Amino acid sequence: MKPLVLIVEDEAPLVTMLRYNLEREGFAVDEATDGEEALLRISERRPDAVLLDWMLPLVSGIEVCRQIRRAPGTRSLPVIMLTARGEENDRIRGLDSGADDYVVKPFSPSELVARLRAVIRRAQPNASENLLQYADLSMDLTAHRVTRSGHSVHLGPTEFRLLYHFLQYPGRVFSREQLLDRVWGQDSDIEMRTVDVHIRRLRKALNVAGGKDLLRTVRSVGYALDAVS
Ligand code: CA
Repeated sequence: MKPLVLIVEDEAPLVTMLRYNLEREGFAVDEATDGEEALLRISERRPDAVLLDWMLPLVSGIEVCRQIRRAPGTRSLPVIMLTARGEENDRIRGLDSGADDYVVKPFSPSELVARLRAVIRRAQPNASENLLQYADLSMDLTAHRVTRSGHSVHLGPTEFRLLYHFLQYPGRVFSREQLLDRVWGQDSDIEMRTVDVHIRRLRKALNVAGGKDLLRTVRSVGYALDAVS
């Protein structure tokens, strides 16, 4: 399958030039002309990399990049910033916002293609680490998707983090204190029974299509992800 590259750029001639060069080099190409459209295209088409212009109407390239990095599903999506600015400060700001690389206009298409291949390659070795599996459960961190026996399981953000934690230590029992510490963070002032509420929600979501209850409650100790009991 051809790697899909999303070009986010409001200058039509540059988009045409980029599309021509990328398609010739074996990439599939998608386009967006502003930041909002870019975020929409990313969630719809799940590109393998994004070429992101700094100067965009509505939402700036920097802000688009920050939003890409903030969302769990796109956190590791490779981003190359395109910009006319060459100042050192701007370069640092671009990389600070989470861009993987930075290309100053005017650039040579072959250099851009080489950098694009490099960021896509760097993003790929982790693909298997992004899939966690246990019994008939599967969590795809890249797509931020959980399935049980192939059926989608819909989880809130906290339940997702809880399950992510359990999937890293299948069979192991965690106390409420440990879960609070590891899932919510040490400095949270959340009450202990909040853990029970989220465990209940997670259990309900996991069992919605029937099947064995995978969350084991260990009385006066805590909880475990356990398919054996
Ligand atoms: Ca522009």
